[in-house]
Amino acid sequence: MQIAAPEHFTCRHHHHHRKVSPEGPQLGASGVGDPYFPQMGNGGYDAVHYDLDLKVDPLNNYLQASATMQAKALQNLDTFNLDFRNFDIAHVTVNGAPAKFLREDGELSITPEQPLIAGQDFSVKVDYAGTPKPYESEHAPITIGWNPTKDGSYVLSEPDGSSTWYPCNDHPRDKATYKFYVTVPTGYQAVCNGKLQERREQGDQTTFVWDAKDPMASYLSTVNVGKFVEHTVEGPNGVPIHNFFPKSVDKRAQFDFGRVPEMMDWFGKRYGDYPFEVYGNLVLNASVGGAALETQTRPVFERGMVTGTRALEFIYAHELGHQWWGNSTSVQNWKDIWLSEGFANYTHMMWRHEHDFGVANLDKAMYRMYRDLPSSSDAPVADPGENQMFSENVYNRGAVTLHLLRKDLGDESFFKTLRAYSEKFRGQNVTTDDLVNTVNEVSGKDMTAFFERWIKQPELPPYPEALKLADDPSA
Ligand SMILES: [Zn+2]
Repeated sequence: MQIAAPEHFTCRHHHHHRKVSPEGPQLGASGVGDPYFPQMGNGGYDAVHYDLDLKVDPLNNYLQASATMQAKALQNLDTFNLDFRNFDIAHVTVNGAPAKFLREDGELSITPEQPLIAGQDFSVKVDYAGTPKPYESEHAPITIGWNPTKDGSYVLSEPDGSSTWYPCNDHPRDKATYKFYVTVPTGYQAVCNGKLQERREQGDQTTFVWDAKDPMASYLSTVNVGKFVEHTVEGPNGVPIHNFFPKSVDKRAQFDFGRVPEMMDWFGKRYGDYPFEVYGNLVLNASVGGAALETQTRPVFERGMVTGTRALEFIYAHELGHQWWGNSTSVQNWKDIWLSEGFANYTHMMWRHEHDFGVANLDKAMYRMYRDLPSSSDAPVADPGENQMFSENVYNRGAVTLHLLRKDLGDESFFKTLRAYSEKFRGQNVTTDDLVNTVNEVSGKDMTAFFERWIKQPELPPYPEALKLADDPSA
């Protein structure tokens, strides 16, 4: 395994048979530079598009796959890496020519026949097969990766599970478009991100072609195989909402998810229009540790999140909120995960309390949330550490921070700021500083010290006295 960035690499071998630059072979870094995950993602190129051609045998839990990444070289490359675990690789080609490859500890190092030149477009195709292995990431609260169910499989990959089922530049910093060609036995469906472009039946096999043309972080890609009832409803601005529910909970799910178009409209008025061309919810015919994931344009929920009473509707609001916060505007580094989770948490609090009962109800709920926060945390919101990215403090103190920002700026300025932030960084990556700078610029108020206190320091600041009155003493 190489950890060094190319500029630190010294080569002890001489490759006389290849054209080698005077400094030695040009290697793409085996990490993208995330302080929490030195090996996540890779340097030296920019992934532009993935074609994932997957033949899934749900009865035998077997996958035969061909993954093609189109990319642009950002430097001269004799060797570059993808992140990839599991499976047997049959072939690797670069621009159609067979390439040498080496696998070590989640890194797939590829040496093309012809070195790549900085600025050059290239494509890498990896053919592989095997039984997918669920991934126990030490950074995730649930088992991630490709998981079998009784009647199919599902994929949830946050934060580092995507490279356990396809070779990729596995970091949100390198977003790309995707096209999925998933072949399953006829009678099963394959549900991925984006728009269902085609359903091609050939004998006893059916291929589902999904086009995800909005740039997407690798961890938000998903492939789910099963038997679902499909519904398409129309959202605001004609955005199609294509839902997939298991037959056993279909009626209840239709009721539970019934207000999603209204949600999208209500959030769109505050955050700016929904940022993608399509949406839809997928309920699995399985339990997945109480989890839901905001997989881009098509969040995935476990079966237990359907109640028939809308009791867990706030979770649907949470995952919808992520489409603006975390998906369209992706984290630049995982330490900034509060820009995803704090925002999604505030989104669902707004829906649950403000939408249904008015803003005074939200004020009370946010003060209650504040009172439940630890007075000091060793996992500061804006840099919680790689093993506390999903801690309650990140979610809840993040949400409280946004509420207090709103109270300070006033509704008009607060939502104008959020719209500007969402618009400016649509389809891109963000840091906490990007948010703070946008807030300062758009609101005309310097909120730098406010953010410093609320999200960077461990100690919990006191709640503004005037807002405490919003609490109901009997609550
Ligand atoms: Zn979330």
